[in-house]
Amino acid sequence: MRPTLVWFRQDLRLADHPALAAACADSDAVVLVYVLDTAAGDREPGGASRWWLHGSLAALEDAVAARGGRLILRRGDPAQVVMALADELNAERIFFSRSYDPRGRALGRAIHDAGAARGMHVKRFPGSLLAEPEHLRTGSGGPFKVFTPFWRALGRQFEGFPVGAPDALPRPPRLVSDSLDSWGLRPRSPDWAAGFEDIWEPGEVGAQGRLTEFLSEAAAEYDGARDRPDQEGTSRLSPHLRFGELSPRFVWHAARAAAAEQAGSGAGIDSFLRELGWREFCYHLLYHWPELTTKPLRAQFAEFPWREDPTALRAWQRGQTGVPLVDAGMRQLWQTGWMHNRVRMVVASFLVKNLLLPWQAGEAWFWDTLVDADLANNVGGWQWVAGCGADAAPYFRVFNPVRQGEKFDPEGAYVKHWVPELAALPPKYVHQPWAMPPQLAGASGFQPGRDYPAPLVDLGDSRRRALAAYQGMRDAVAPTSSAATERSPGTS
Ligand code: FAD
Repeated sequence: MRPTLVWFRQDLRLADHPALAAACADSDAVVLVYVLDTAAGDREPGGASRWWLHGSLAALEDAVAARGGRLILRRGDPAQVVMALADELNAERIFFSRSYDPRGRALGRAIHDAGAARGMHVKRFPGSLLAEPEHLRTGSGGPFKVFTPFWRALGRQFEGFPVGAPDALPRPPRLVSDSLDSWGLRPRSPDWAAGFEDIWEPGEVGAQGRLTEFLSEAAAEYDGARDRPDQEGTSRLSPHLRFGELSPRFVWHAARAAAAEQAGSGAGIDSFLRELGWREFCYHLLYHWPELTTKPLRAQFAEFPWREDPTALRAWQRGQTGVPLVDAGMRQLWQTGWMHNRVRMVVASFLVKNLLLPWQAGEAWFWDTLVDADLANNVGGWQWVAGCGADAAPYFRVFNPVRQGEKFDPEGAYVKHWVPELAALPPKYVHQPWAMPPQLAGASGFQPGRDYPAPLVDLGDSRRRALAAYQGMRDAVAPTSSAATERSPGTS
């Protein structure tokens, strides 16, 4: 029997994996391969993602081996490597999950065409989303740009139940496979990810454990707690979803089952599922507007007068802006590879509005430092905050990091944890140490400017500067000019 080749991508799991399930359903000759893409240019995984990828692949290798199989590891341009392996095996079929970003789609097409030219049966499966982006259409037939109607349409469209992991996997013929360690995905010197091991467990087992823990302990309270960075109120499933260690369909059904079992948890779980809907929305946008990775959806923002200021950018990256909530978020990111969603919005707003630096610079830093760095969600998040994306926060909505801190971190516990220089400050001043009366500062032994930087910019002045820049852009772009319009779907 000629084998079926299953190419793993952003779907590093065995449960609810439609391509794998289909391959195993009617064949005893199934070969599993993962290809490290070394030709993705500036969209190769960033440092934190590479750390995660190592752990996720190690877990997948173990899970496959425990079922009698073997995961083949190779590196190079996946379009060539997958086809070379298919030729080597004289494969009858090549199965893999769909991808929705520009490069992933191009690779899928290339393999499809090359396989078809050889007479192989190549099939792309769903599995990474609740509903396929082309199945969701507005009343007039176009893609959605507004979340709420998208979410309603998704509810009508979504169906199907998770499928289980195969009990056993066939042992492939003798094939050359790289060792995972030889890929050097984990940092050595310096090992900046040393603390990650204590926080994260990459892989399907860790993902399912985190989901179970969240659903039993925190989901019921999610609605109230999700905006509080000082609490463990969210699921922290994002890197597991990013690497496909869990399918969103699996999460959905597990959450629905938990809601049915736990009285009073419905509102929290509905709210959690709505966030999963935002992930779908971001993928929908990227699928229909592939150029969003670099260009604003609202084309007029291409004319925005962004500044260039490497010193300010570096202070932001290092958590040394002198604005406590911003610095706390940026340090949490650096030390854990993750940041709370509320704080992501605050640090992003500070970068693009108070510092007037381009959202692409922030997106690139997040890409390198987040363990959950996800092209669709990251670009979607940045464009949303910058006001140039779909259903975006208007540009003139400038998050005030002091007010946000007072509201969502009222005791300053989050800030004090990540910015220990401020640990001795009373809650009233922890979000604005510059406002502390000198005698009080003296009594606590804290000296602003010496123990903690003075703010990089005045929040009020920089807000006014941002609004003026925005107004200037609007005035410069005449309403009839094509640059004032939104991009059409599928253009680049
Ligand atoms: P939960 O609140 O438990 O939500 C459950 C899941 O829903 C998440 O794991 C995630 O998959 C999805 N989700 C939640 N909020 C959003 C959202 N706003 N947009 C899209 N999906 C969402 N998320 C990423 O996964 N990768 C990124 O690279 C990323 N970059 C971001 C950049 C900016 C500037 C902003 C504002 C947001 C970004 N987000 C990103 C979205 C969001 O911050 C994270 O998904 C969330 O904080 C992850 O924590 P959690 O798993 O505890 O989320």
